[in-house]
Amino acid sequence: MTRLILLGPPGAGKGTQAKRLSASLGIPQLSTGDMLRAEVKASSALGLKVKAVMDAGKLVSDDILIDLIAHRIDQPDCRKGFILDGFPRSLPQAEALDRMLGERKAKIDRVIELKVDVEALVERIVGRFTCTKCGAGYHDKFHRPKKDGVCDQCGGTEFARRADDKEEKVRTRLDAYTAETAPLLPYYKGRGVLATVDGMASMDAVTRQMSQAIGTVGVA
Ligand code: ADP
Ligand code: ADP
Ligand code: ZN
Repeated sequence: MTRLILLGPPGAGKGTQAKRLSASLGIPQLSTGDMLRAEVKASSALGLKVKAVMDAGKLVSDDILIDLIAHRIDQPDCRKGFILDGFPRSLPQAEALDRMLGERKAKIDRVIELKVDVEALVERIVGRFTCTKCGAGYHDKFHRPKKDGVCDQCGGTEFARRADDKEEKVRTRLDAYTAETAPLLPYYKGRGVLATVDGMASMDAVTRQMSQAIGTVGVA
């Protein structure tokens, strides 16, 4: 059983690493950002409610997120564990998650912090794009497709950039991280589950450090 949380500011590499770990560990990546963007794209009632807040780079309310995750972790594909990417993002969310798991006689096994220099984040975020067909992530400078305009993973030729990946929105999101999410680091440290990896290293080096951090828990 491996229940993991990836923690780090926007652009730290959570999505990139969660996809790799998901493939190697055979457990799903639960990205609340992706889940919310799918709701917005589908113009669901939830999507209509959260669109403006997301576009502004602000955090969606805890109630909405807690509901979203509670339903998700009860799906059969989460039975062997999961990788939370983008949740929890506030102390109330972390406490709700603990309660949710407690009710299911489960707990978080490892929280991995991706530590990065703030100055690097804006460059990472404004250069990022994804394949619209398979969701693979790329970067103008750090991770271009092998063949320009063609996805390495699926051969897709359409890519998208997020509406909130603009420099001024990034600043708002970094502020939200500092104010709401950074307090989770001492919270999980106190529980003895926090590991920190150097998110400024190459993508492969980060993946190796993360595998080590996971290997050192009682992954039973
Ligand atoms: P990034 O990958 O850049 O950190 P995400 O894709 O995780 O960003 O999130 C995009 C947006 O979705 C956030 O700015 C916020 O509006 C909303 N969001 C995602 N997860 C949460 C959460 N756990 N709590 C509140 N809002 C969230
Ligand atoms: P997050 O999910 O934490 O917001 P992403 O995984 O989307 O971050 O990464 C942000 C951007 O930075 C992406 O374009 C990704 O390709 C790139 N990136 C991720 N990890 C690294 C790394 N270790 N070095 C350089 N660029 C990276
Ligand atoms: Zn693709």
